[in-house]
Amino acid sequence: MIGALRRAGSAALDLLLAQDCFLCAEASGASLLCAGCRAALRPNGPSCPVCALPTPDAQICGYCLKRPPPFDASVAAFSYSHPADALLQAYKFAGRIELAGLFGHALHAAVADAGSIRPDVIVPVPLHPERLKSRGFNQAALVAQVLARAFGLPLDYRLLERIAPTAAQAGLNLRQRRRNLRGAFMAHDATGMSIALVDDVMTSGTTLTECALRLKQRGASRVSCWVVARTPPPRRQ
Ligand SMILES: [Zn+2]
Ligand SMILES: [Zn+2]
Repeated sequence: MIGALRRAGSAALDLLLAQDCFLCAEASGASLLCAGCRAALRPNGPSCPVCALPTPDAQICGYCLKRPPPFDASVAAFSYSHPADALLQAYKFAGRIELAGLFGHALHAAVADAGSIRPDVIVPVPLHPERLKSRGFNQAALVAQVLARAFGLPLDYRLLERIAPTAAQAGLNLRQRRRNLRGAFMAHDATGMSIALVDDVMTSGTTLTECALRLKQRGASRVSCWVVARTPPPRRQ
């Protein structure tokens, strides 16, 4: 009797939570995505352990060999292609913050799979206070919260600050991106700390490079980049 009641209760709960897939409007039960769309999300796959650029056999890529970046390692959950791009755009620009859980859990699994070194602290890439006010949320911070809970690690919102408002990076070439971000971040004392920097998308890596540089200048011993999705870098200028 109790079992039957419990079953009826759980069926009622499923019905209550039933929704349409975020992407294709198929019924997806209590999940954000239906099984088909979930399977269509492309993992980043074998990639450079330093910058997460896809490489055969997960070798260090030519860019990192030629000019090692200030960060030590990178992990990306997805390739920035359809449908991950659509999800990330809806998340960031349409405020669909319910996607943070899906991103955070996928990234948690990717970091665990990569056998990454456990950091001391998780630091989301900060937004400038003005941008935070207009967007209403920091897309990196919501994913970082999911990761901090999943790994049982502390979050630090104050170690890194965005001190200058900058133009959006989209549409800029690599040199313009670098110039755009010069002086945008400031780090506090990070002596001896191993840090996981969290961001939504890694494109040219300019933002994460700039953040890692500031943290290393303030004594960080190790900086890893954990990103939801990775795009191949634009052609070098
Ligand atoms: Zn679907
Ligand atoms: Zn690389």
